[in-house]
Formats: sequence, C-alpha cells, structure tokens
Amino acid sequence: MDEDKRHEHGAATRLVAAGRRPEWTGAVVNPPIWRASTHLYPDMAAHAEGPRYNEDGRFFYGRRGAPTQWALSDALTGLEAGAAGTVLYPSGVSAIAGVMLALLAPGDVVMIPDNAYDPSRAMGRGLLTDFGIEPRFYDPLDLTTYTEAFCERTRLVLLEAPGSLTMEVPDIPALARIAREKGALSAMDNTWAGPLGFQALANGVDVVLHALTKHVGGHSDVMMGSASAGEDLYQRLRKRAQSLGLVVSPDDAALALRGLRTLKIRVEQETSSALEVARWLSQRTEVARVLCPMLPGAPGHEVWARDFAGGCGLFSFVLRGGTRASRNRFIDALELFGIGYSWGGFESLATPVDPAPMRDVMAWPPSGLEAGDRYGVRFSIGLEDPADLIADCERAFARMAET
Ligand SMILES: *Cc1c(COP(=O)(O)O)cnc(C)c1O
Repeated sequence: MDEDKRHEHGAATRLVAAGRRPEWTGAVVNPPIWRASTHLYPDMAAHAEGPRYNEDGRFFYGRRGAPTQWALSDALTGLEAGAAGTVLYPSGVSAIAGVMLALLAPGDVVMIPDNAYDPSRAMGRGLLTDFGIEPRFYDPLDLTTYTEAFCERTRLVLLEAPGSLTMEVPDIPALARIAREKGALSAMDNTWAGPLGFQALANGVDVVLHALTKHVGGHSDVMMGSASAGEDLYQRLRKRAQSLGLVVSPDDAALALRGLRTLKIRVEQETSSALEVARWLSQRTEVARVLCPMLPGAPGHEVWARDFAGGCGLFSFVLRGGTRASRNRFIDALELFGIGYSWGGFESLATPVDPAPMRDVMAWPPSGLEAGDRYGVRFSIGLEDPADLIADCERAFARMAET
C-alpha cells in the first residue's frame, strides 16, 4: 500500500491487507511460508550484489529474514503511526533485551517502572547490571520523583501501561515528554493495549515494543516480539538485532500474521466480556478492589479513557482479607479458567497476584486498601460466554468460603 495512504483507513480495514506486497509474494492473499537459509546466485557478479538485495526487498540470506517475516514486520509498521520499520524478535523478552542492548552502553542509567513486567525488572538487575548499565526503579504514578530521578547518565526510560499485575495507568504522554526534555529516549512495552488501543509513537514515545506472543498471536501457539520506531532508531534496533543473530521462523511469522487479521474483533469481544466479569466482581463482598482500567470508577480509568482507544481482556482484582491459601482455593475451584502464564489467547486464564516482593518504591497494598487486602487474581478473559465465566467465579467463591 502507498506509504502515505496507509494511515487514512480505519484499523479494521488496514488489518485485512496489512503487509501484503505483491512484489515480495505475488498475488496470493497470504504470503507463502518461505523456509530458506540460502539464496543461490547465478554468477559472481550477482553474488557481489548480494548484500544489497536485502535493502531492495530481495532475499539475501535467511538471517536477514525472508518475505514471510517481511510481510509481518511491514504489517506491524503499518499499524503504528510514526514508525519507519519494525524488528521482529523470537519472544517479547528478547524484544525488550534487543531494545535495551541497542540503545544502552556501559555507564548508562536506565529507568524501569517499579510495576514493570517482572522479567523486565529482572533484566535490569541481571543482564544490564552485568554489562555495566545501572537500573533505577521509579514510581510511574509520581511525576515529581520521576523527574527528580534523571541524571546526566540517564539514557533510556522504559514505560509500560498498565502496570504488570496491578494495572496502574501512568500518564504516558507526560512521562515520554519529560524523558525527552531530559535528553533521554523512551521505549514503551505496549503489549496490553496493542497498536489498536494505544498509539505510542504518536504519544511521544521513541520506541514501541509488543509481545506478539499475546494478542497478535492470539492462539497460545507462537512466541514472538516486535519493536517499531522512526527511521534512525529503527536502523539502530535492526543492526543490533542482526549482530545478536535474532531471527524468527517463517512458520511463526505466518501464524502471527494469521492472528493479526482477527486482532480487532478478538480484542473487542474480550474487552466487553472482561467488563461484564469485572462489573460483576466489583459487586461482590469477597472483592476489595477491581483493577481494570476500562471499568468506570476503577483506578486509572480516567487516564485510560483520556489516552487510550481500547483495552483488552486482561485485568486483576484484590480479595478482601483472606489468605494466600483461600485465594489459591478460589483459583483451583475455577473450571473454565486455565492456570497458566501468558494471556491474550482465546481461552481464559487465571494467575495469582502477589506483587509485594516485586516492588522497590511502590507500596503494596496501595493506599485505600486494608493491610489484609493483599492477595489478588489476574484474569485473562478469553472468548467464552461471559455468563459461563461469571457462574464459574460464583462457584469458586463458594468453594473459597469453605474451610
Ligand atoms: C508476556 C509479556 C512479555 C514477554 O513476552 P514473551 O513472548 O513471553 O517473552 C513482555 N511484556 C509483557 C507486558 C508481557 O505480558
């Protein structure tokens, strides 16, 4: 599609043909799975030209990707206003690591939100510290301490919305603007809202990354990540990913592309089901607080409504009092929710929320909750009938009350 025109259409329209380039893959609807490491050159003159092929969108060598992967990254670029290109990574975590290793050098400081996805926190303390990069954890809801935390060496700020497990919604445009004023770059993990729910680059963020494993894959059968940026940063990300030898398989790229076609209707259905379940939970005496930004009255709802065009089926809630054992009894009693990591698939999942040991600067439980209201549950609402999910919760609350 004409580069200048692709943002004129609505998201659903763009999802249908995103990444389809006849010059790469001919007239088929879906790009073939182009499984290849090696390109054969007809002669030495062509061989000498080889490295330039890739820049022209011609196959050069498997590590630089092939048309199946190009179609996916082109599709993702087309969904992100302000992006010049998208790098694919073999998982969401490797996208985070790839961005960090592209933009940081020994001696730099990286600011990480205290409520970040836990492997991002662990990357700060592990990989980055090992390479001489200093992580500093900040409270993304407190712009004053955030602003004060910058120093001469602060090179990059990681952003994430909402917070992992506890679902706080920070003011992303303000956090990104302050980072820029301080001369630092910002990179946002936008896995939750995705490109349809939040346009990170248009809101002042420099690099946006997604765990495609979640909603884009959408069917719990592919691991992948991506990072998109404007031209200069995209080139830096691309070069570093190539030097790290990061590639995704064409089979996985085809699965992610298939997921992408139905992203909008799946996320919309999940969101409306999640709101039904969240609203029901908010009426229950067993629940101290529902942490669902899409729910009017829930923490972060106003900032979410101001900045976001959508959400998804992932939210948490905190039980009133109780113990870890009673919370675990609730989860064990659920029949329609799997107990499992990941989210954004077609099936509902439940995981325990115990954020206290993962926080440096943000209090848990947060203000307004009693000290005993500390054990939570995170739901990833799938495509089941919401009435069945609610009945399942009702049964599980009854089981939780038994001793
Ligand atoms: C799952 C997740 C990731 C990591 O993705 P993987 O593909 O599992 O490595 C990154 N960020 C967020 C917010 C996630 O939920």
